[in-house]
Amino acid sequence: EALDLIERLMNAPAKSEGAAAASTEKVPVTVALGDGIGPEIMGATLRILEAAGARIAPQVIEIGEKVYLSGNSAGIAPEAWDSLRRTKVFLKAPITTPSGGGYKSLNVTVRKTLGLYANVRPCVSYAPFVDTPHDKMDVVIVRENEEDLYAGIEHRQTDEVFQCLKLITRPGCEKIIRYAFEYARSHGRRKVTCMVKDNIMKMTDGLFYKVFQEIGAEYPDIGQERFIIDIGSARIATHPERFDVIVTPNLYGDIISDIAAEITGSVGLAGSANIGEHVAMFEAIHGSAPDIAGKGVANPSGLLLGAVMMLVHIRQADIAQKIHNAWLRTIEDGIHTADLKGEKTSRVVGTDEFAQAVVERL
Ligand code: NAD
Repeated sequence: EALDLIERLMNAPAKSEGAAAASTEKVPVTVALGDGIGPEIMGATLRILEAAGARIAPQVIEIGEKVYLSGNSAGIAPEAWDSLRRTKVFLKAPITTPSGGGYKSLNVTVRKTLGLYANVRPCVSYAPFVDTPHDKMDVVIVRENEEDLYAGIEHRQTDEVFQCLKLITRPGCEKIIRYAFEYARSHGRRKVTCMVKDNIMKMTDGLFYKVFQEIGAEYPDIGQERFIIDIGSARIATHPERFDVIVTPNLYGDIISDIAAEITGSVGLAGSANIGEHVAMFEAIHGSAPDIAGKGVANPSGLLLGAVMMLVHIRQADIAQKIHNAWLRTIEDGIHTADLKGEKTSRVVGTDEFAQAVVERL
């Protein structure tokens, strides 16, 4: 079904959505259907994009399990890189990394190869419509995506001693911290919080905070504060409403963005953007959920909200807004996939029925 939709999106005439539309030209977008629930949630997402008149021309690439199991340890073929370098925009469904050694994380490979230095993850509470105790939460986590303990500098010293080095560079800090302040300014946000452990890692995390203070001085209109990561994580779990934009190195960002997404109500609700200087990738935060794959029950919201961020990125904010509003009305009406089932649910629906409900509210 997802492939049929792609064919239709490529062949359909471009629609203009009035004066706000930047252009009527279709934007080429690389699309990966992914593994597990990937094809189901991508099908639902593309169906909503098509109905909303998104001006995109999807080009499908094969990545993930099949490619890994064909003997490619990176899980991505050379033709796929060509497509990504050509379109510079990537809508990616979750993929399965086969268990066992020798398979490299595709996400890490894609981020590093394409220089996707900023992982942006909005975590919003939809409390009036979904069960969650945090009714005023609206946090955006801006995570550094290339350095830190994820730089891949890991080696064996002896059979009993292994070492992983933490890499923090001034250019890396400058890029991510400036991105966070620019994001705050352009999205009407009031405060940026820096989360580090500079009381212990005085050089690496110390540099991150020093650069935060230097760059922060150029943004007097934006509030600024620093939290030590351990107490900061605890506060996100108990008082997420006190945070606005958070900027943090890679590992801390990975952990706190999962905490923040989880307490919004469901891991199936959050989308994320991976931004580089030339290419950007948009996805759901969750994985391929093999336990529910093929059952037609997965929540497509995370990938859909990732696609909404993509539409803003390619200057189709009018369509993005239209889809976001229709999606909000759907969950407000209590039309929920099984993962959201609770007191506010009026009807539990499957993936396709959920997509249909969003389309009806466009
Ligand atoms: P997962 O996120 O796939 O699933 C965790 C739990 O959340 C499962 O119970 C699942 O059913 C549920 N869930 C996830 N998404 C859902 C949705 N949209 N609707 C309803 N329920 C949903 O995590 P996992 O089980 O640890 O990982 C499975 C596979 O996904 C692994 O191979 C892992 O490597 C991969 N993974 C990929 C990505 C990615 O491609 N970005 C991210 C994380 C994990």
